[in-house]
Amino acid sequence: MEEARLILAAAALLLLQQPPAEKCKYCRDDPKILSAAGLVGHGPMPFGKTNSDDVKRFLSYADPLFLESAHFRIASTLEEYKIPEKDWKRMWAELNELRKLFPSIPPKLRVLDPWLRLHLYAQRCEALYTRFLDLVGNKEGDFRKTTTRPYMGEGRFLGMKDKYEVFLHKDMRAHLDLLKEHIGVSRKKPQMWHFTDRGALTVSIPAIDDLRTDEHLHANVAHDLGHNFVCGFRHYSFDPPVWIVEGFAHWFEREICDYDSFCSEEAAVADMYTGTDWKAGTLRILERGKAATLADLVHKKSFNDIGREDHVIAWSKVDFLVRGVPQGFPKLLNGIKGKTDDRNLPIGTDLIGTQRDVVRAEFGWTFAEFDAEWEKWVRKAYVPQR
Ligand SMILES: [Zn+2]
Ligand SMILES: [Zn+2]
Repeated sequence: MEEARLILAAAALLLLQQPPAEKCKYCRDDPKILSAAGLVGHGPMPFGKTNSDDVKRFLSYADPLFLESAHFRIASTLEEYKIPEKDWKRMWAELNELRKLFPSIPPKLRVLDPWLRLHLYAQRCEALYTRFLDLVGNKEGDFRKTTTRPYMGEGRFLGMKDKYEVFLHKDMRAHLDLLKEHIGVSRKKPQMWHFTDRGALTVSIPAIDDLRTDEHLHANVAHDLGHNFVCGFRHYSFDPPVWIVEGFAHWFEREICDYDSFCSEEAAVADMYTGTDWKAGTLRILERGKAATLADLVHKKSFNDIGREDHVIAWSKVDFLVRGVPQGFPKLLNGIKGKTDDRNLPIGTDLIGTQRDVVRAEFGWTFAEFDAEWEKWVRKAYVPQR
Protein backbone atom coordinates (compact mmCIF):
# COMPACT_ATOMS: atom_id res chain seq x y z
CA MET A 1 0.00 0.00 0.00
CA GLU A 2 2.74 2.38 1.12
CA GLU A 3 4.76 1.37 -1.91
CA ALA A 4 1.89 2.05 -4.29
CA ARG A 5 1.41 5.48 -2.78
CA LEU A 6 5.10 6.20 -3.23
CA ILE A 7 4.96 5.12 -6.87
CA LEU A 8 1.92 7.33 -7.41
CA ALA A 9 3.67 10.26 -5.78
CA ALA A 10 6.74 9.69 -7.91
CA ALA A 11 4.61 9.50 -11.05
CA ALA A 12 2.79 12.71 -10.10
CA LEU A 13 6.13 14.44 -9.54
CA LEU A 14 7.35 13.24 -12.91
CA LEU A 15 4.20 14.63 -14.52
CA LEU A 16 4.76 17.96 -12.83
CA GLN A 17 8.35 18.12 -13.97
CA GLN A 18 7.71 17.02 -17.52
CA PRO A 19 4.41 18.24 -18.88
CA PRO A 20 3.40 15.96 -21.75
CA ALA A 21 4.64 17.37 -25.06
CA GLU A 22 1.52 19.23 -26.10
CA LYS A 23 0.51 18.63 -29.69
CA CYS A 24 -1.47 20.98 -31.87
CA LYS A 25 -5.00 19.63 -31.87
CA TYR A 26 -5.93 21.39 -35.11
CA CYS A 27 -3.40 19.92 -37.54
CA ARG A 28 -2.22 17.19 -35.13
CA ASP A 29 1.16 17.54 -36.84
CA ASP A 30 -0.28 15.28 -39.54
CA PRO A 31 1.71 15.76 -42.78
CA LYS A 32 -1.40 15.14 -44.91
CA ILE A 33 -3.50 17.76 -43.09
CA LEU A 34 -0.58 20.18 -43.07
CA SER A 35 0.21 19.92 -46.76
CA ALA A 36 -3.49 20.23 -47.67
CA ALA A 37 -3.46 23.47 -45.64
CA GLY A 38 -0.35 24.75 -47.45
CA LEU A 39 1.70 24.44 -44.27
CA VAL A 40 5.05 22.82 -43.54
CA GLY A 41 4.57 22.13 -39.83
CA HIS A 42 5.39 23.02 -36.25
CA GLY A 43 9.14 22.49 -36.61
CA PRO A 44 11.98 22.08 -36.12
CA MET A 45 12.93 24.83 -38.58
CA PRO A 46 15.63 27.48 -39.06
CA PHE A 47 14.77 30.63 -37.11
CA GLY A 48 16.65 33.86 -36.40
CA LYS A 49 20.34 33.31 -35.82
CA THR A 50 19.88 29.58 -35.23
CA ASN A 51 16.77 27.38 -35.28
CA SER A 52 13.50 26.69 -33.47
CA ASP A 53 14.96 24.00 -31.16
CA ASP A 54 17.74 26.31 -30.07
CA VAL A 55 15.27 29.19 -29.53
CA LYS A 56 13.02 26.84 -27.50
CA ARG A 57 15.95 25.91 -25.29
CA PHE A 58 17.10 29.51 -24.92
CA LEU A 59 13.57 30.78 -24.12
CA SER A 60 12.49 27.64 -22.22
CA TYR A 61 10.73 29.78 -19.60
CA ALA A 62 8.43 31.20 -22.32
CA ASP A 63 7.78 27.88 -24.14
CA PRO A 64 7.38 29.27 -27.69
CA LEU A 65 5.34 27.45 -30.35
CA PHE A 66 6.43 27.48 -34.00
CA LEU A 67 4.63 27.13 -37.31
CA GLU A 68 6.08 27.18 -40.81
CA SER A 69 3.83 28.09 -43.73
CA ALA A 70 4.59 28.53 -47.43
CA HIS A 71 6.29 31.92 -46.99
CA PHE A 72 6.65 32.38 -43.20
CA ARG A 73 8.14 30.98 -40.05
CA ILE A 74 6.13 32.15 -37.08
CA ALA A 75 6.97 31.82 -33.39
CA SER A 76 4.50 32.66 -30.65
CA THR A 77 4.21 32.78 -26.90
CA LEU A 78 0.79 34.44 -27.14
CA GLU A 79 -1.59 33.23 -24.47
CA GLU A 80 -5.23 32.28 -24.86
CA TYR A 81 -7.41 35.17 -26.05
CA LYS A 82 -10.99 35.95 -25.15
CA ILE A 83 -12.52 37.56 -28.24
CA PRO A 84 -14.22 40.87 -27.34
CA GLU A 85 -17.88 40.83 -28.33
CA LYS A 86 -17.41 43.66 -30.84
CA ASP A 87 -14.88 41.48 -32.72
CA TRP A 88 -16.94 38.27 -32.84
CA LYS A 89 -18.27 38.82 -36.35
CA ARG A 90 -14.93 39.80 -37.86
CA MET A 91 -12.91 37.05 -36.19
CA TRP A 92 -15.54 34.37 -36.78
CA ALA A 93 -15.26 35.15 -40.49
CA GLU A 94 -11.50 34.56 -40.29
CA LEU A 95 -12.02 31.40 -38.24
CA ASN A 96 -14.56 30.14 -40.77
CA GLU A 97 -11.81 30.35 -43.40
CA LEU A 98 -9.47 28.41 -41.14
CA ARG A 99 -12.16 25.82 -40.38
CA LYS A 100 -12.17 24.81 -44.06
CA LEU A 101 -8.68 23.43 -43.43
CA PHE A 102 -9.13 22.35 -39.81
CA PRO A 103 -12.71 21.13 -39.29
CA SER A 104 -12.10 20.56 -35.57
CA ILE A 105 -12.29 24.32 -34.93
CA PRO A 106 -15.67 24.82 -33.24
CA PRO A 107 -17.98 27.47 -34.73
CA LYS A 108 -18.61 30.71 -32.83
CA LEU A 109 -15.59 30.28 -30.62
CA ARG A 110 -15.18 32.89 -27.91
CA VAL A 111 -11.74 31.92 -26.62
CA LEU A 112 -8.73 31.14 -28.81
CA ASP A 113 -6.03 28.85 -27.43
CA PRO A 114 -2.33 29.47 -28.19
CA TRP A 115 -2.23 26.92 -31.04
CA LEU A 116 -5.23 28.44 -32.76
CA ARG A 117 -3.78 31.93 -32.41
CA LEU A 118 -0.61 30.66 -34.08
CA HIS A 119 -2.57 29.12 -36.97
CA LEU A 120 -4.64 32.29 -37.30
CA TYR A 121 -1.49 34.43 -37.57
CA ALA A 122 -0.08 32.07 -40.22
CA GLN A 123 -3.30 32.55 -42.20
CA ARG A 124 -3.10 36.33 -41.77
CA CYS A 125 0.58 36.54 -42.75
CA GLU A 126 -0.05 34.48 -45.87
CA ALA A 127 -3.02 36.73 -46.73
CA LEU A 128 -0.75 39.79 -46.39
CA TYR A 129 1.84 38.15 -48.65
CA THR A 130 -0.81 37.47 -51.30
CA ARG A 131 -2.07 41.05 -50.99
CA PHE A 132 1.44 42.42 -51.47
CA LEU A 133 1.94 40.28 -54.60
CA ASP A 134 -1.33 41.69 -55.88
CA LEU A 135 -0.29 45.30 -55.13
CA VAL A 136 3.03 44.96 -56.96
CA GLY A 137 1.39 43.05 -59.82
CA ASN A 138 3.62 40.00 -59.49
CA LYS A 139 2.96 36.32 -59.05
CA GLU A 140 4.68 33.60 -57.06
CA GLY A 141 7.06 32.38 -59.80
CA ASP A 142 8.35 35.84 -60.79
CA PHE A 143 11.07 35.92 -58.15
CA ARG A 144 14.21 33.86 -58.49
CA LYS A 145 17.92 34.25 -58.93
CA THR A 146 18.80 34.57 -62.61
CA THR A 147 21.85 35.75 -64.51
CA THR A 148 19.68 37.47 -67.09
CA ARG A 149 17.84 40.77 -66.85
CA PRO A 150 15.60 41.89 -65.28
CA TYR A 151 17.14 41.33 -61.85
CA MET A 152 14.41 39.82 -59.67
CA GLY A 153 16.41 39.23 -56.52
CA GLU A 154 18.28 36.39 -54.92
CA GLY A 155 15.45 33.98 -54.24
CA ARG A 156 11.81 33.11 -54.49
CA PHE A 157 10.40 34.97 -51.46
CA LEU A 158 9.69 38.29 -53.23
CA GLY A 159 13.41 38.23 -54.06
CA MET A 160 14.75 37.06 -50.70
CA LYS A 161 16.45 33.67 -50.36
CA ASP A 162 14.54 32.58 -47.28
CA LYS A 163 11.12 32.93 -45.70
CA TYR A 164 9.87 35.91 -43.68
CA GLU A 165 9.89 35.40 -39.91
CA VAL A 166 7.61 36.76 -37.21
CA PHE A 167 8.02 36.32 -33.44
CA LEU A 168 4.97 37.27 -31.36
CA HIS A 169 5.85 37.61 -27.67
CA LYS A 170 3.29 37.71 -24.88
CA ASP A 171 5.60 39.96 -22.82
CA MET A 172 8.77 42.02 -22.96
CA ARG A 173 11.22 39.62 -21.32
CA ALA A 174 11.60 37.05 -24.10
CA HIS A 175 11.59 39.80 -26.77
CA LEU A 176 14.54 41.52 -25.04
CA ASP A 177 16.38 38.25 -24.34
CA LEU A 178 16.01 37.09 -27.94
CA LEU A 179 17.10 40.41 -29.46
CA LYS A 180 20.16 40.53 -27.23
CA GLU A 181 21.13 36.93 -28.01
CA HIS A 182 20.42 36.98 -31.76
CA ILE A 183 21.26 40.51 -32.89
CA GLY A 184 22.93 42.20 -29.92
CA VAL A 185 20.30 44.94 -29.73
CA SER A 186 18.16 46.07 -26.80
CA ARG A 187 14.86 47.61 -27.88
CA LYS A 188 11.39 47.59 -26.39
CA LYS A 189 9.63 48.21 -29.71
CA PRO A 190 9.04 45.78 -32.58
CA GLN A 191 12.40 45.16 -34.22
CA MET A 192 13.02 44.20 -37.85
CA TRP A 193 16.26 42.43 -38.79
CA HIS A 194 17.98 40.94 -41.83
CA PHE A 195 19.74 37.63 -41.17
CA THR A 196 22.07 38.02 -44.15
CA ASP A 197 23.58 34.52 -44.08
CA ARG A 198 20.17 32.96 -44.74
CA GLY A 199 18.61 35.92 -46.53
CA ALA A 200 15.70 36.04 -44.08
CA LEU A 201 13.87 39.16 -42.90
CA THR A 202 12.53 38.88 -39.37
CA VAL A 203 10.42 40.91 -36.98
CA SER A 204 10.19 40.42 -33.22
CA ILE A 205 7.08 41.97 -31.65
CA PRO A 206 6.34 42.38 -27.93
CA ALA A 207 2.53 42.13 -27.86
CA ILE A 208 2.07 44.30 -24.79
CA ASP A 209 0.01 47.43 -23.97
CA ASP A 210 -2.11 48.35 -27.05
CA LEU A 211 -0.92 45.25 -28.88
CA ARG A 212 -2.64 42.95 -26.36
CA THR A 213 -5.77 43.70 -28.41
CA ASP A 214 -5.69 41.15 -31.21
CA GLU A 215 -6.91 43.58 -33.89
CA HIS A 216 -4.10 46.03 -33.04
CA LEU A 217 -1.53 43.25 -33.09
CA HIS A 218 -2.83 42.11 -36.49
CA ALA A 219 -2.48 45.71 -37.75
CA ASN A 220 1.04 45.99 -36.32
CA VAL A 221 2.06 42.72 -37.99
CA ALA A 222 0.81 44.21 -41.29
CA HIS A 223 2.85 47.38 -40.66
CA ASP A 224 6.03 45.45 -39.86
CA LEU A 225 5.59 43.04 -42.76
CA GLY A 226 4.94 46.11 -44.95
CA HIS A 227 8.48 47.21 -44.07
CA ASN A 228 9.97 43.80 -44.69
CA PHE A 229 8.13 43.21 -47.97
CA VAL A 230 9.19 46.59 -49.42
CA CYS A 231 12.77 45.95 -48.26
CA GLY A 232 12.77 42.34 -49.47
CA PHE A 233 11.12 43.07 -52.84
CA ARG A 234 13.68 42.19 -55.55
CA HIS A 235 16.16 41.65 -52.68
CA TYR A 236 17.17 43.79 -49.73
CA SER A 237 20.43 45.09 -51.23
CA PHE A 238 20.02 48.64 -49.87
CA ASP A 239 17.60 50.60 -47.68
CA PRO A 240 14.73 51.86 -49.86
CA PRO A 241 13.59 55.50 -49.36
CA VAL A 242 12.17 55.79 -45.82
CA TRP A 243 9.08 57.72 -46.93
CA ILE A 244 8.02 54.81 -49.14
CA VAL A 245 8.82 52.20 -46.48
CA GLU A 246 6.92 54.01 -43.71
CA GLY A 247 4.18 55.37 -46.02
CA PHE A 248 3.48 51.89 -47.37
CA ALA A 249 3.63 50.31 -43.89
CA HIS A 250 0.92 52.75 -42.74
CA TRP A 251 -1.11 52.04 -45.86
CA PHE A 252 -0.83 48.25 -45.39
CA GLU A 253 -1.69 48.56 -41.68
CA ARG A 254 -4.73 50.73 -42.41
CA GLU A 255 -6.17 48.00 -44.64
CA ILE A 256 -6.60 45.99 -41.42
CA CYS A 257 -8.02 48.75 -39.18
CA ASP A 258 -7.30 52.33 -38.16
CA TYR A 259 -4.74 51.40 -35.51
CA ASP A 260 -1.41 53.09 -36.35
CA SER A 261 2.17 52.06 -35.58
CA PHE A 262 4.97 54.60 -35.87
CA CYS A 263 8.62 53.73 -36.42
CA SER A 264 11.68 55.51 -35.09
CA GLU A 265 15.37 54.65 -34.97
CA GLU A 266 16.90 52.86 -31.96
CA ALA A 267 16.46 55.10 -28.93
CA ALA A 268 14.21 57.83 -30.34
CA VAL A 269 10.49 58.10 -29.78
CA ALA A 270 8.46 58.49 -32.99
CA ASP A 271 6.50 61.69 -33.53
CA MET A 272 3.03 60.14 -33.49
CA TYR A 273 -0.05 61.54 -35.22
CA THR A 274 -3.05 60.95 -32.99
CA GLY A 275 -6.02 61.38 -35.34
CA THR A 276 -7.70 58.25 -36.70
CA ASP A 277 -9.26 59.73 -39.87
CA TRP A 278 -6.21 60.18 -42.08
CA LYS A 279 -8.23 61.32 -45.09
CA ALA A 280 -9.68 64.26 -43.14
CA GLY A 281 -6.23 64.72 -41.60
CA THR A 282 -4.62 64.99 -45.05
CA LEU A 283 -7.17 67.64 -46.12
CA ARG A 284 -6.58 69.65 -42.92
CA ILE A 285 -2.79 69.54 -43.34
CA LEU A 286 -3.24 70.66 -46.97
CA GLU A 287 -5.51 73.55 -45.91
CA ARG A 288 -2.83 74.77 -43.54
CA GLY A 289 -0.26 74.59 -46.35
CA LYS A 290 1.83 72.19 -44.27
CA ALA A 291 1.80 69.11 -46.50
CA ALA A 292 5.29 67.76 -47.13
CA THR A 293 6.19 67.94 -50.82
CA LEU A 294 7.58 64.90 -52.58
CA ALA A 295 10.91 66.75 -52.73
CA ASP A 296 10.76 67.03 -48.90
CA LEU A 297 9.88 63.36 -48.47
CA VAL A 298 12.62 61.96 -50.72
CA HIS A 299 15.18 63.85 -48.58
CA LYS A 300 14.12 62.12 -45.33
CA LYS A 301 17.09 60.01 -44.33
CA SER A 302 15.75 58.17 -41.30
CA PHE A 303 12.47 57.41 -39.57
CA ASN A 304 13.36 60.07 -37.00
CA ASP A 305 13.18 62.72 -39.76
CA ILE A 306 9.51 61.91 -40.36
CA GLY A 307 7.38 64.37 -38.38
CA ARG A 308 3.88 63.49 -37.19
CA GLU A 309 2.11 65.07 -40.17
CA ASP A 310 4.69 63.67 -42.60
CA HIS A 311 3.49 60.18 -41.61
CA VAL A 312 0.00 61.10 -42.81
CA ILE A 313 1.24 62.72 -46.02
CA ALA A 314 3.59 59.82 -46.82
CA TRP A 315 0.63 57.44 -46.29
CA SER A 316 -1.52 59.61 -48.58
CA LYS A 317 1.09 59.78 -51.35
CA VAL A 318 1.36 55.98 -51.27
CA ASP A 319 -2.47 55.87 -51.31
CA PHE A 320 -2.39 58.07 -54.44
CA LEU A 321 0.17 55.75 -56.07
CA VAL A 322 -1.92 52.66 -55.24
CA ARG A 323 -5.43 53.97 -55.97
CA GLY A 324 -5.00 57.14 -57.99
CA VAL A 325 -2.36 56.30 -60.62
CA PRO A 326 -2.65 53.16 -62.78
CA GLN A 327 0.15 50.82 -61.64
CA GLY A 328 1.65 53.79 -59.77
CA PHE A 329 2.98 51.90 -56.75
CA PRO A 330 4.61 49.00 -58.64
CA LYS A 331 6.05 51.40 -61.21
CA LEU A 332 7.79 53.50 -58.56
CA LEU A 333 8.93 50.51 -56.50
CA ASN A 334 10.23 48.60 -59.51
CA GLY A 335 11.99 51.70 -60.80
CA ILE A 336 13.88 51.97 -57.51
CA LYS A 337 14.45 48.29 -56.75
CA GLY A 338 15.12 47.15 -60.32
CA LYS A 339 17.93 49.54 -61.23
CA THR A 340 21.07 47.48 -61.88
CA ASP A 341 24.66 48.01 -62.97
CA ASP A 342 26.73 46.35 -65.76
CA ARG A 343 26.96 43.17 -63.71
CA ASN A 344 23.17 43.13 -63.21
CA LEU A 345 23.50 43.97 -59.50
CA PRO A 346 21.19 46.46 -57.74
CA ILE A 347 22.27 50.11 -57.54
CA GLY A 348 21.23 51.77 -54.29
CA THR A 349 23.19 55.02 -54.59
CA ASP A 350 21.61 58.41 -55.39
CA LEU A 351 18.09 57.28 -54.56
CA ILE A 352 16.83 60.86 -54.83
CA GLY A 353 18.04 61.05 -58.43
CA THR A 354 16.59 57.60 -59.11
CA GLN A 355 13.18 58.66 -57.77
CA ARG A 356 13.28 61.84 -59.87
CA ASP A 357 14.12 59.78 -62.98
CA VAL A 358 11.43 57.17 -62.28
CA VAL A 359 8.69 59.77 -61.66
CA ARG A 360 9.62 61.48 -64.91
CA ALA A 361 9.99 58.30 -67.00
CA GLU A 362 6.95 56.44 -65.66
CA PHE A 363 4.46 59.27 -65.08
CA GLY A 364 5.90 62.15 -67.08
CA TRP A 365 5.99 64.41 -64.00
CA THR A 366 8.50 66.50 -62.08
CA PHE A 367 8.26 66.19 -58.28
CA ALA A 368 6.19 69.42 -58.22
CA GLU A 369 3.84 68.06 -60.89
CA PHE A 370 3.47 64.84 -58.88
CA ASP A 371 2.41 66.96 -55.87
CA ALA A 372 -0.10 68.93 -57.93
CA GLU A 373 -1.68 65.72 -59.32
CA TRP A 374 -1.74 64.19 -55.83
CA GLU A 375 -3.46 67.27 -54.39
CA LYS A 376 -6.05 67.26 -57.17
CA TRP A 377 -6.80 63.57 -56.50
CA VAL A 378 -6.90 63.97 -52.72
CA ARG A 379 -9.39 66.85 -52.93
CA LYS A 380 -11.73 64.58 -54.85
CA ALA A 381 -11.07 61.18 -53.29
CA TYR A 382 -11.01 62.26 -49.62
CA VAL A 383 -14.11 64.40 -49.53
CA PRO A 384 -16.91 62.38 -47.90
CA GLN A 385 -19.64 61.38 -50.39
CA ARG A 386 -23.09 62.47 -49.39
ZN1 LIG B 1 -1.09 22.87 -35.93
ZN1 LIG C 1 7.09 51.68 -39.65
